[in-house]
Amino acid sequence: MLTIRKKLVSDAQAAKVTNGKGNGKKFIVVHETDNTRSGADADAHARLQANGNSRDASWQWTVDDKEAVQSFEHTWKCWAAGTGTGNNQGIHVEICVNSDGDYAKAVRNAAELVAKIMKDEGIPIANVVQHNYFSGKHCPRNVREGKISWSQFLAKVSACQGTTQQPSPIIDTNKYRVMTGTYSTLQAAENVLDVLKHRFGWVAYIEQDGDKWRVKTGTFTGMDAAQAGANKIKTAKLAQVANVVAA
Ligand SMILES: [Zn+2]
Repeated sequence: MLTIRKKLVSDAQAAKVTNGKGNGKKFIVVHETDNTRSGADADAHARLQANGNSRDASWQWTVDDKEAVQSFEHTWKCWAAGTGTGNNQGIHVEICVNSDGDYAKAVRNAAELVAKIMKDEGIPIANVVQHNYFSGKHCPRNVREGKISWSQFLAKVSACQGTTQQPSPIIDTNKYRVMTGTYSTLQAAENVLDVLKHRFGWVAYIEQDGDKWRVKTGTFTGMDAAQAGANKIKTAKLAQVANVVAA
């Protein structure tokens, strides 16, 4: 069974490299990374996105011969297709082609992932398309060059659909902290620290930043938990800014 993992890009970073939220989720768009470097696997591509990809590009999923890693929730309108429709209505899956990976296995995993997304989002197989469908780009390259034909790929997707299996649990074991914006007095930061420690029961500490202070929490496991922590701080009006950072 395919291992599925989340390594989500923070909302702040996502806002910089997407058209925002509200994806129409009409298409599943299949790509290849075109990156044949050894080690250019799903984890490497997910880390690239989480660390702030310098290129103006983004995509929801990267899959290799070992696992599928999700970088963005499907609602984000990622920049992957080269056209507005493809970006705003597509969920994008990048298949790794790293030279130290097993391409055939990565394709099988991609088929399983596509079948899962179809089921989760109610997308028909007729709307599983190549990147080429939108912009005419030669992507996914190996598929287009016949290393595995597109009809073979779709047949694999259909085969995966038929299997009644438990949905794979999605795990995010990455550690994150929440960091507030700065306070101009130590007293203000201490007041917030007090609430986090005694009312929320969290681990937290104060950090000096120039002549100002900020509060940082202990670690949360998973982006969802950290984002919930940041929201809790904002809802309680303890800080105007509360960002999730990698721990
Ligand atoms: Zn592509």
